[in-house]
Amino acid sequence: MNKEKIQRHNDRMKRHKKVVDEKIEKANIEQGVLIVITGNGKGKTTSALGTLLRSLGHGHQCALVQFIKGQWDCGEGHFFANSFDKKGNNGQGGLTTYTMDTGFTWNSQDFEEDKQAAAAVWEQALPLFNDPECRLIVLDEITYMFKYKYLELSEVITVLKNRPKHQNVIITGRGAPKELIELADTVSEIQPVKHAFNQRIKAQEGIEW
Ligand code: ATP
Ligand code: MG
Repeated sequence: MNKEKIQRHNDRMKRHKKVVDEKIEKANIEQGVLIVITGNGKGKTTSALGTLLRSLGHGHQCALVQFIKGQWDCGEGHFFANSFDKKGNNGQGGLTTYTMDTGFTWNSQDFEEDKQAAAAVWEQALPLFNDPECRLIVLDEITYMFKYKYLELSEVITVLKNRPKHQNVIITGRGAPKELIELADTVSEIQPVKHAFNQRIKAQEGIEW
């Protein structure tokens, strides 16, 4: 690059830094956030798990609540089982996990059984929303519970609104209802630009589960 181009680049970076610095200065509200990761692309649950790892790495108390049966037989499930004792401690942070062991799957066909299973997991999770020590709660695939009317959206919204001020919550799943999107502080919609499955590449351990 010639001198003139380098100077232009440096000036541009200086202006950019000024804009970013101003934004950082303005962001002075201290509170937890509600994050919604939705859309039809791959990366919703794995994104939530990445943030969970980040929070656990700081020694926070966290919770993972999964609204799909059988999801536990996956790499992250094995990893957590090996990393935390039965009480969910690892000497640093803590992880509470609740998952559906009966009820809803993608092939689900029994409305009453599924509804009960969803309600049971939600009931188990409720005390977490009164616990200021619990820094992050992941509600994985909960959007389907609203779609199929297994859980009352308005009830979940009330609980989210009344949670401890510094508690973070991440919701994942396709088709997040607009009320949740309105309530959330951060919303990402993942678009499926390409997916290996559609090119006949077999689902694989460590990538899909
Ligand atoms: P992941 O758990 O990999 O982050 P996800 O949470 O975004 O995926 P889900 O809708 O929960 O996606 O579906 C879980 C499974 O479906 C994963 O095995 C994922 O690879 C696969 N999957 C996600 N999106 C697509 C897609 N657009 N086409 C085909 N398979 C998909
Ligand atoms: Mg998912």
